[in-house]
Amino acid sequence: MKTLAYHRPKSLDEVFDLMASSEDAAYIAGGTDLLVSGGASPPTLISLRSVPELMGVDETRIGAATPVADVARHPGLAASHPVLVAAARRLGSEQIRNVATVGGNLCRAAPCADLAPPLLVLEARAEIVGRGGTREVPIDEFFAGPGETVLAPGEVLAAVRLDPPRTGAQGRFLKKGRVRMDLAIASVALLVEAEGGRCRRIRIAAGSVAPTPLRLQPVEALLEGAELTDEILEEAAALAAATVRPITDVRSTESYRRRIVGVYVKRGVAQALAGGEA
Ligand SMILES: Cc1cc2nc3c(=O)[nH]c(=O)nc-3n(C[C@H](O)[C@H](O)[C@H](O)COP(=O)(O)OP(=O)(O)OC[C@H]3O[C@@H](n4cnc5c(N)ncnc54)[C@H](O)[C@@H]3O)c2cc1C
Repeated sequence: MKTLAYHRPKSLDEVFDLMASSEDAAYIAGGTDLLVSGGASPPTLISLRSVPELMGVDETRIGAATPVADVARHPGLAASHPVLVAAARRLGSEQIRNVATVGGNLCRAAPCADLAPPLLVLEARAEIVGRGGTREVPIDEFFAGPGETVLAPGEVLAAVRLDPPRTGAQGRFLKKGRVRMDLAIASVALLVEAEGGRCRRIRIAAGSVAPTPLRLQPVEALLEGAELTDEILEEAAALAAATVRPITDVRSTESYRRRIVGVYVKRGVAQALAGGEA
């Protein structure tokens, strides 16, 4: 049987010392991706779940080691950033959410990561820490490809930083899985500000339809300043379907994914304008 070294450091210095002294080590948070991904697990695991700088959640900062369940149940975040809380509530099951972390969802960099689209529309920032200090990167620049991020070797995602909510912004998160509890075939998050039926500002992002979670900037540009009529929303849906770059895989086809994204952009804007839960 293979032996595995498991460390649970209590400070960032200890984390970086352990990483520097191990040849084949990996960080582990909840382990719900790392331990089930099919590949061989690295021989040394360094847990990030006891490091104070990575803990804690409020309306401006979510520590990377925060369980998704703590986001899903956070009353302050539900009031300030409901689109993020809606996505957290759709991630996996209660049992998965209790173990899976926010940082793990982002650092795994799966195109289907449920927390990525809402964080993209919120224009959140990744707080990254390494031996050399701390840096911040817009979430839009955090994902480098499927399973790849801009984290340098040894660096840790410490937290996600959020701006205060924008007055009048209405959010929506829509996710399509094969069954209700499933990875997304496609997902859309959006945040719309409108006045008298005219769109003042909109942010739209989609998951599972490109090598990385994706902001749909051409669709935003089409809608900003426009009257939100059925016709323009049809146009937005078609543009969204044309903008994404999905693949066919075991969960869905390329064409179905395009279709879902278009439908969700149109439906999401209509639902956001109607108000109610994200
Ligand atoms: C049954 C099941 C259902 C699931 N359903 C969903 C779903 O509906 N939606 C969804 O998006 N995901 C889903 N997942 C995937 C998974 O649960 C999430 O992506 C989860 O958020 C991963 O977090 P974790 O803490 O378990 O990550 P881990 O498995 O601990 O880590 C994932 C990767 O990130 C790295 N890492 C973790 N934290 C950090 C950090 N702070 N800094 C640097 N690197 C770090 C690790 O080294 C590893 O490479 C599901 C998984 C399972 C098993």
